[in-house]
Amino acid sequence: MQLGNAVTVISPTNWAGFLSWMPGCKKVLDYEMQTVKATAALDKAEWLFCLDFNTMDRTRKMAEKLTSLDCIKILIDHHQQPQVEAFDYGISDVNKSSTSEMVYDFITESGNADKINDNVGECLYAGVMTDTGSFRFASTTASVHEMVADLKRRGLKHSQVHENLFDNFLENRFRFFGHVLLNRMELFYEYNTALIAIPQNDLIKYNVKTGDTEGLVNFPLSIHGIKLASVIIDRGDERKSSFRSKGGFDVNTFARKYFNGGGHYNAAGGKNIEPLEEVVRRFKVAIKENKEQLSSYQF
Ligand code: 5GP
Repeated sequence: MQLGNAVTVISPTNWAGFLSWMPGCKKVLDYEMQTVKATAALDKAEWLFCLDFNTMDRTRKMAEKLTSLDCIKILIDHHQQPQVEAFDYGISDVNKSSTSEMVYDFITESGNADKINDNVGECLYAGVMTDTGSFRFASTTASVHEMVADLKRRGLKHSQVHENLFDNFLENRFRFFGHVLLNRMELFYEYNTALIAIPQNDLIKYNVKTGDTEGLVNFPLSIHGIKLASVIIDRGDERKSSFRSKGGFDVNTFARKYFNGGGHYNAAGGKNIEPLEEVVRRFKVAIKENKEQLSSYQF
């Protein structure tokens, strides 16, 4: 926009309320809710930047439209196994902490560092901070800290971003987390594994939106000994899984093998059409099949 281009940001789905503080958020289109407006913007687009996904099917209902577009498609992403033929240009680098870091590289390496104003800095910081688990995951390289140092020098107020993101629960979401941690979490100590399986009724009862479950899967990793944490949610049309691991357990492979998914080595997800009970059963089979790796974890 600062370079004089008309830009429309489109999200395939809605997003959690705790992100609504983000600069520019009100202008972002939700493809599912604003399909006509989003489609009109896509039809006019000369360039399509695809950020933080590398296969079109990750964009759900938007996938068909994106695939059909003739414009130039540019990928900026850090997941494994990109759908190379779907994009004209781009980069998919699994060694990068986050797409935010890659967007920062893109801005600075194209000579536009001076365009990083307060709003841009806050958005880039929010992306890299959340994707690195507040700078704790192995993906937090020296260049991540160098990027943050640069943002700080440009005036970033990082405490405000942390507060906006983490001290921003609505009561229903907070109580929902309490409810599922108390009533839906199962621990499998012989496999160093935790599972939270959430029926659709819980989402309805606590009025929980799609993005409101973000971050839940990290909670069981705070339990001593837990190496693999999983959340499986019945979203009605599908059962959505999230997996997080510590150290040497590859949840990308795990998600691909058992849950039609993928992601990163320590953070991945998947989706299944089978009922919740069946997906939970599959999970239990899967951890048994990976017992050797899961149970041998040393603390
Ligand atoms: P989350 O658990 O936060 O939804 O996702 C964790 C990581 O796994 C993210 O990088 C996300 O893009 C990826 N991921 C989540 N669900 C799927 C899926 O169904 N398929 C693939 N390929 N990746 C997924």
